[in-house]
Amino acid sequence: MDLVASCKEKLAYFRIKELKDVLTKLGLSKQGKKQDLVERIFAILSDEKAARLGSKKEAVAREKVAKLVNDAYRRMQASGEGDSPSKGQVSSDISNAKAKGELEDSFQPDVKVRCICGSSLETESMIQCEDPRCHVWEHVGCVIIPEKPMGGNPPLPDSFYCEICRLTRADPFWLTVAHPLFPVRLTATNIPTDGTNPMQSVDRTFQITRTDRDLLVKQEYDVQAWCMLLNDKVLFRMQWPQYADLQVNGVPFRAINRPGSQLLGANGRDDGPIITPCIRDGINKISLSGCDSRRFCLGVRLVKRRSLQQVLNMIPEEAKGEPFEVALARVRRCIGGAAGNDNADSDSDIEVVADFFGVNLRCPMSGSRMKVAGRFKPCLHMGCFDLEVFVELNQRSRKAVAVSYLSEELFSGAYNRGPLF
Ligand SMILES: [Zn+2]
Ligand SMILES: [Zn+2]
Ligand SMILES: [Zn+2]
Repeated sequence: MDLVASCKEKLAYFRIKELKDVLTKLGLSKQGKKQDLVERIFAILSDEKAARLGSKKEAVAREKVAKLVNDAYRRMQASGEGDSPSKGQVSSDISNAKAKGELEDSFQPDVKVRCICGSSLETESMIQCEDPRCHVWEHVGCVIIPEKPMGGNPPLPDSFYCEICRLTRADPFWLTVAHPLFPVRLTATNIPTDGTNPMQSVDRTFQITRTDRDLLVKQEYDVQAWCMLLNDKVLFRMQWPQYADLQVNGVPFRAINRPGSQLLGANGRDDGPIITPCIRDGINKISLSGCDSRRFCLGVRLVKRRSLQQVLNMIPEEAKGEPFEVALARVRRCIGGAAGNDNADSDSDIEVVADFFGVNLRCPMSGSRMKVAGRFKPCLHMGCFDLEVFVELNQRSRKAVAVSYLSEELFSGAYNRGPLF
């Protein structure tokens, strides 16, 4: 019997515990039904294309998998087959526990490929997340989606953020603490021939550990289901498919606050429902279906609510933001008072040439006198707004563009606090 065949036979005997052991050592996702786990290991063992090409790298990968499978099989036999599955659960609880804490500081540097398809194998065509703290790779074919289904291979974007980093920037009022379910893509369950939208769905399990549970006792922590359109023009927001039907442990949750047939506008913004009330210790089930022709992914995260003051504190002080001289030079350029005329062909809409320029100290949002003037760095106009009022309005009104703009600026540190004049 050859290597692959003997491995496949052993895999058939594996319980979830052995499957998870092998997947952990391979750095692959452990999410999914038992059959998914088996197939994930199977995929490496029976990569026909690689076998035909005789790729050395793939051969090494197969040998590594075969060895892991053999080792796990031997351990399983040594410990006796009768082990209860709950024992396996405990050990994975412990290994999960150390990965908790604020993810922003504890991204495991050894995980390089993490894709919505669930495979962490390297392929020829990969794209890397821009965020320097992430730098995860995904498969181009999985995440770069053409505008039209038959649109051919779209060009690679100049900058690419993985779904996790897009989510982080989607709402500054939530801090991601852990990802019980990393984003997984929805798959079409039927392709209608009459031009109507296909049904798509995903069905997964995720684990809530004791560490998660301890956090969830506190009021500011929650479990949130989230969904994202893969090729959304507004990068940093959630979006659910049309006619979204979300269920957690059999309990339906309302994913969207609009009619199922209505599309989300450019300024619109979907939220992630809080699913904490029906979460239980250990394994939880989540399913999502929708009727939509676009491509989505679904995830579950553990979040901590940020207060208004905490969001305000994220805005860099002048010392860490834009230096005063740079801000002043920019303002001078924009009122045409700078030496020389280097922007003669610039857009006249944004350029003001004047000897005298009045600035209104009334915040356009609140109508009151500004306390701390705020303005986005790329803005070329003189008008400001009251920073605190702006952040507070974002917390309440949740307009996609404003919220994502706010968080993008917050996370890139390109936002100024303090007097600008
Ligand atoms: Zn992939
Ligand atoms: Zn990323
Ligand atoms: Zn502006």
